[in-house]
Amino acid sequence: MRYYANFKLNKTSKEVVDYFEKFNQYNINQQVCFFVSPALIDGAVKSTEHPIGTQNIASQKWGAFTGETSIEQAIDLGCKSVLIGHSERRHIFNESDALIAEKVKLAKEYEVEIVLCVGETLLEREQKFDVIKRQLTSALDNLSSYSNIIIAYEPVWAIGTGVVAQNADIDEMANYINSVLKQNYNTTLPILYGGSVKTTNVKELKTINSISGFLVGGASLEPDEFYQIIIS
Ligand code: PEP
Repeated sequence: MRYYANFKLNKTSKEVVDYFEKFNQYNINQQVCFFVSPALIDGAVKSTEHPIGTQNIASQKWGAFTGETSIEQAIDLGCKSVLIGHSERRHIFNESDALIAEKVKLAKEYEVEIVLCVGETLLEREQKFDVIKRQLTSALDNLSSYSNIIIAYEPVWAIGTGVVAQNADIDEMANYINSVLKQNYNTTLPILYGGSVKTTNVKELKTINSISGFLVGGASLEPDEFYQIIIS
């Protein structure tokens, strides 16, 4: 299975070094990647052999875009993976499907893994299949290849809330996502689940055959806890 940590806007550079001093001691034979904020990429890359990803990129390569981080800057610092379309970007920073599509298209020009997040809000729950289809197709329609893309299904109402989606619902959505991918692009992609994954629920979640791993926010912030999730 694959495990992706999302540190969000947390940790100083010293805390990142301390984190990896501990985490690197664990013998892990599964794929683990850490999404950190741009300011922490350099320190994280220097502190661990595990791949480091960035939590966001600008939709433009370069130019007058104050406060943004470009894909080339992230890659230059050693980033191997890019998180695009996280619900906090969609809902707090009002990122549209069109902007997310631009970011995916730009990242595709580089040899970097793309983790594309999709997920419905509580209000959208009744139309969740339409919402996910729209988020997927708007981001993927203009691509000519789908290699190196992973889909993270993260129902917004489950992120950071302690409420985890039911196994049957996650399984149903993962199968639906792959049916949309098959129908529209003749491909299938690895699917992650994210939303309040913890040591106490991950064993149960690991019984879902249609998913390939997890995107973990809050519970990835402590090395012990994240390690327990991985080995559970
Ligand atoms: C996330 O940030 O992508 C996430 C899933 O957060 P949490 O695990 O805290 O719900």
